[in-house]
Amino acid sequence: MSIFTKIIEGEIPSYKVAEDDNFFAFLDINPNAKGHTLVVPKKEENKIFDLSKEEYTSLMNFSYRVAKALEKSVPCLRIGMSVIGLEVPHVHVHLIPTNAMADMQFTKKEKLTNEEFVALAESISSNFS
Ligand code: 5GP
Repeated sequence: MSIFTKIIEGEIPSYKVAEDDNFFAFLDINPNAKGHTLVVPKKEENKIFDLSKEEYTSLMNFSYRVAKALEKSVPCLRIGMSVIGLEVPHVHVHLIPTNAMADMQFTKKEKLTNEEFVALAESISSNFS
């Protein structure tokens, strides 16, 4: 079972942003920038292009809705999107409120308090539709 499946099942706590039958979105615990969110299919698949076309399209549609909520909650130049998966072998889309190229480089990290994570997750969740 992947660490993200444990998060989805509530075995490991997370700052949840959105959920439906097939997808789960939550704040990255070591964010590049405030609001850095991960969108994960509940089906545990390692690599994004091993998803079927339908699963891939549904993941992108769900990510679009999360990105729209993020844009409302976190002022930024744009939402950057990235899929890597070298650390956690369970498909996840990184949605990152971006103001500079460095925000997309996974080297500059932001430290947030628990209260800041909670407030961000609540705000993004309230803007999700
Ligand atoms: P990747 O696999 O795309 O290289 O990155 C995995 C991402 O998952 C990283 O940005 C890392 O901070 C995040 N991550 C790893 N473990 C956890 C966790 O237990 N909780 C949360 N919220 N994020 C995690």
